[in-house]
Amino acid sequence: MSLRGTNQESGRPYNRRIVLETIRLHGPIARGEIARRVGLTVQTVSTIIRELELQDFIKGAREEPKGRGYPATALTLNPEGGFAIGANVSPIGVDVALINLAGDIIGQEGREIVNPDPDRAFAEIARIAAGLRRLRPAGRMLGLGMAMPGPFDVEAMSFVGPTTLQGWKDVPIAERLAAATGLPAFVGGDVASAALSERLYGAGRNLQEFYYLYLGVGTGGRLVHGGQVLRGARGNAGEIGHVPFIPDGEYCPSCGNRGCLERYLSVEAFDRRSKIVGEDGWIKEAAPLLRTAILAIENLFDPETIIFGGLAPEGVMKKLARAAEPLLPSVSERRDRKVPRFTLSITGKAALLRGAAALAFSNVLAPRIGTSGDDDNDPLMQKSKAEKAA
Ligand SMILES: [Zn+2]
Repeated sequence: MSLRGTNQESGRPYNRRIVLETIRLHGPIARGEIARRVGLTVQTVSTIIRELELQDFIKGAREEPKGRGYPATALTLNPEGGFAIGANVSPIGVDVALINLAGDIIGQEGREIVNPDPDRAFAEIARIAAGLRRLRPAGRMLGLGMAMPGPFDVEAMSFVGPTTLQGWKDVPIAERLAAATGLPAFVGGDVASAALSERLYGAGRNLQEFYYLYLGVGTGGRLVHGGQVLRGARGNAGEIGHVPFIPDGEYCPSCGNRGCLERYLSVEAFDRRSKIVGEDGWIKEAAPLLRTAILAIENLFDPETIIFGGLAPEGVMKKLARAAEPLLPSVSERRDRKVPRFTLSITGKAALLRGAAALAFSNVLAPRIGTSGDDDNDPLMQKSKAEKAA
């Protein structure tokens, strides 16, 4: 995505976000370089920089002088300039974290609840979030993002399987969360959130094209394409867990097909099968399916790499990734590779929570068309508003 500013005065809040996003993605960066990247004058960029510094969103450090001339200021995000709550709800409980603008987890707390219903989940999230906010009593809270298992809006899927949440259909989730916590609330899929976190903070930080394969309670995946998580028409693109890998295989109560990948390769499958065949026995069963999944993903999407993450115990993830080697021949088998075909990322739950918080950061901070032209309604300008009122 290339970020370009607009010269219309009504585009001011939009330009502010463009500049902030450029600093987030490319900082430390000097203002002249920002101006060149976004197509605004240095003067316009300097005005915005002053505003953003006053709002504590960014900070600058003088660079060492290179030759003659005044040294440039290298601008970076101020990690403590803003905070968001990241939450995750799954069939095994809720987890909540307080996360700063740089994606650092300031505090985190979870509660095991089997199949939490919306009322219980919203109450727990609100209670934990209130406690975590005490870690930064004066911190500026930008919002709350919640990640939850998909798929979304799929009529044929029953939502009664062991990997899906029950009783959440037709619940106005964002509105209820906002009411429970008093924060602007945003909801996204768990796999998409974790993929976003890998893109922003993790193994995919410098990659534009990768597939994130997620071994959660259920199994899913998302393609990051051009640096963005590919949504598809309804936000379900990449949902590999419900692709039947075994003809006439085990019945999948979630979607009604037989032989779905997640019946064999998921935390749910690990819990169920390892009780019978043991941990190593399960890895032996699951590894050929993982190997085939990698091949299918590579041939479909030609990614730079496949990042493998999730919620299984770290030791199990490592053994499983090793057992998938050697990988099968595919379009990705090339000598000139810069990154390996398959990368294990063990950030698991942290990735989910940071990705959930990123939903809130992106919704509040990221440039988008139609951002209000009115400074008084711009959440980026809250501080000056409060100062004006004081
Ligand atoms: Zn299925």
